[in-house]
This record gives sequence, C-alpha cells and structure tokens, in this order.
Amino acid sequence: MSSSEPPLPEADPSDRGDIDADEHERPTRLALVPRYIDQGYDPRSVERRRLWVEEKTGAELSHVGRGSLDPRDFRGNIENPVGVAQMPLGVAGPLKVLGEHAQGTFYVPLATTEGALVRSYERGMAAITRAGGAEARVWIDRNRVSPIFHLSSVGAARDFAREVEKHAGEIRRRAELTTRHGRLEQISCLPVGRKVIVDLGFSTADAQGMNMIVKAAEAACEWMVEHLDAERYQIFSGYNSEKRVSGALLRGGKGKKVTAGVRLPADLVRTLFRATSEEMVDMWQHTVLGHLTAGAVGYNGHYANGLTALFIATGQDVANVVNSSVGVTHFELEDDGALFASVTLASLSVATVGGGTGIGTHRECLELMGCAGAGNARKLAEIVAATLLAGELSMGAAIASGEFVAAHETYGRNRPKA
Ligand code: NAP
Repeated sequence: MSSSEPPLPEADPSDRGDIDADEHERPTRLALVPRYIDQGYDPRSVERRRLWVEEKTGAELSHVGRGSLDPRDFRGNIENPVGVAQMPLGVAGPLKVLGEHAQGTFYVPLATTEGALVRSYERGMAAITRAGGAEARVWIDRNRVSPIFHLSSVGAARDFAREVEKHAGEIRRRAELTTRHGRLEQISCLPVGRKVIVDLGFSTADAQGMNMIVKAAEAACEWMVEHLDAERYQIFSGYNSEKRVSGALLRGGKGKKVTAGVRLPADLVRTLFRATSEEMVDMWQHTVLGHLTAGAVGYNGHYANGLTALFIATGQDVANVVNSSVGVTHFELEDDGALFASVTLASLSVATVGGGTGIGTHRECLELMGCAGAGNARKLAEIVAATLLAGELSMGAAIASGEFVAAHETYGRNRPKA
C-alpha cells in the first residue's frame, strides 16, 4: 500500500464485503470470504481480506502479505487473493541444448522445497554439457478438447461421424472464428455405442491454450448440433486426459511431444556418476521391471520432479504435470562403453504466453532462459526435455552407484527444529 492511501480500517470479522451481500446474509455458519468492490484485486482489498482471514483463523500471515507482486495483475489467475505463496527458487546449469528451437547454453530456474533436487539436476546437466549437449526435437505441437455427442442410435452415430468428416472445413472455420492464434488441425471421431467423441486437435502457438480451444470447440459444437443430426453434446468427455494420466497420452497430441537424447562417453559416466555405463543400463532394466509390475503408463524415473519445479518457476498450470509426466526414458549401452540416454515426453504442456506466464517472478524465470513471450514455446519445450534428461541421468546414477540415500542425507533433510 502506498503512503498516500488512507490507513486501513480495523479488521472486522463480520465484514462481509461490499458486494454479494445477499450471499453473505444467508443463515449459515460458514462465512464466505469477502469479495469487496470489483472482486477486490486492489492492494487495500487484498490486505483487508488477509486481515479478515487472520482474525477468523488466528493465523499470522506476515510472509503471505509481503510479496512484491501487484495483486491487480492477479485478475484472471486467482480469486479471493490474500497475498503470495513464496517458494525457494534455485538455478541449475549450465545445460547445453542442441535443439531446433533452443540452441545454446541455459541456466534453468527450479522452484522447490525438495533438498537435493537442484544439485541432482545440476550434475546431470554438467554431464550433458561436457558431452557436447543434448539434442532435442518437438514432434507434435497440439492441444485437444474432446466433446461427446449424443445420437439416437448406433447407426445414427456412424452417420454423424461421416457428416463430421464431410463438413470438416466448416467446423474448422467456426472454431477458428473465436481465436487469432488457435488452428483446428485435426478432427477425429471415436464411437462409444450410440455416442461419438469428437476429438479436436488445435495448434495453440505459444499458449497452453485450454481457455482458447475450449471456447473454439464450443463454437464448433454449437454448429454441429445445429446442422448435423446430434441431439446434444457435452464439452468434456474426459478423453483428452487433461490433468489425468492415460495410455492415450503416450501416443502424443495433448501438448508437445518432445524428445531429448545424449551420448555420454564411458569415462565421463564413470567420473561424474561414479558408476559404469553397464551399471546404469542394469539399473534401468531393473526399474523397468518395477514399472511393468506396477502397471505404470510409460516409464520414467522422476519427470514430475523437474516438471513441477520448472512449472512453478515459470507460471505453467502446475496440475498439467500429471499429463506432462507421461513418457519414456531409455538407457542403452554402446559398443565402446558409452551410454546413450533419451527421454520422450509425449504430452508436455508448456507455454510462454497466457496463463500465469506473465506474472512477475514467472516472467523473470522465462526471461532467464530467453523464453518469455511470443515465439518461444517450442524453445521452452526443448529446454524442459533436456532438463528432464539431466534429472533421469542423475537419479539413475545415484541408484546405480548406491549413493541415493547418502545424497539425500547430505542435501535433502530438514528435520523439524527441536
Ligand atoms: P489465456 O491466458 O486464457 O489466453 C491466451 C491468449 O493469448 C490466447 O487465447 C490468444 O488469443 C492470446 N495470444 C497472444 N499472443 C499469442 C501467441 N503468441 N500465442 C498464443 N496465443 C497468443 O491462456 P490459454 O493458454 O488459452 O489457457 C491457459 C489457461 O487455461 C491456464 O492458465 C489454465 O489454468 C487454464 N485452464 C482452462 C481450462 C478450460 O477448460 N478453459 C482447463 C484447464 C486449464 P487468441 O485466442 O485471440 O489468439
């Protein structure tokens, strides 16, 4: 709050805000959080709301209230703001990436409270960079919405799917009227009895695109119900596997399918990882058995670790870690004792525009990698893939060399102070 603003009133636990009065007057024991004027994004309303919560709960929110971000920028990203959740932020690198979009050496921001995580990624990055860098490529770049249509019979469902195919041009046109950047690239129909899931695959440029493409899909669905034989539709069927794990994600097409790989000479593996390439591959084979026994979708050591830390740092929708962590890590032994390691992320959801990517700290973290704003989403995807490759190598090495527990004892323990 600037010094020119009037002083804050005393916190009043019965303060129910300036709008939505009816809602707050309902005879209920649960008082709703005050909205205040225009939903209360101005610093004064945010502070009043925080004091209201302190009063209600007895908790002191002094750290929550001490961020540098302007809450007016939070509109569209959060409701009922009371401050900020601050997290430790570290940087790992240097990471050399030989991508189509990411070319050069990068320092990668990681927000985490898991001790040993940054050090572990750093070790993998050192190995990759000393080996000359990780190649990275984006194979598919698309996001999907999969509405489901109700038809009167099994036969009508088959006919509807044919009509959808026939009118693909008009369906595409209707969808694209709602967005400047979204392009409807793929339409496919999947029958479920007399229902039809219409899977709509959009390119979304540098945005993650869910807001963009759900709006576009709705426009297309409205046209289909009006002009084709379907009685009704529901915008989400669950088939697109947004924020859920599914086998369908492994094929790709929900976000970016991106690969990264590196060849590490035998002596580099021994020196940096204190394990041989043979031991690394042996470790990989044993953990594949565990994954198979568990019925895992795909195989990886810990994609979710690097993804979560990177997503929090750069303002991605963190729940997309679930679909983004579906993929396959592979370790192979070459004739001269070198280790070839690769990661394949089938459905990586990352953006450099929209969502939380424009908020202060997130934008700064994207800038740190030269990835802020338009034209950078595929570059970010390649850096993410190379980062996860580093994490897979380092964690694999810790297990293969028997140092996993010791490393966490050194870096990753934070027992409560007595
Ligand atoms: P958004 O912030 O809602 O919108 C981004 C907009 O930026 C695009 O629609 C586009 O406008 C514009 N834009 C400007 N320059 C662009 C560029 N270079 N590339 C791409 N777009 C550009 O973000 P969003 O990506 O559509 O949605 C992501 C958010 O949706 C996430 O924060 C996520 O939490 C949330 N979400 C929504 C749903 C849902 O069902 N609605 C589900 C899950 C998550 P034009 O469209 O006019 O081109």
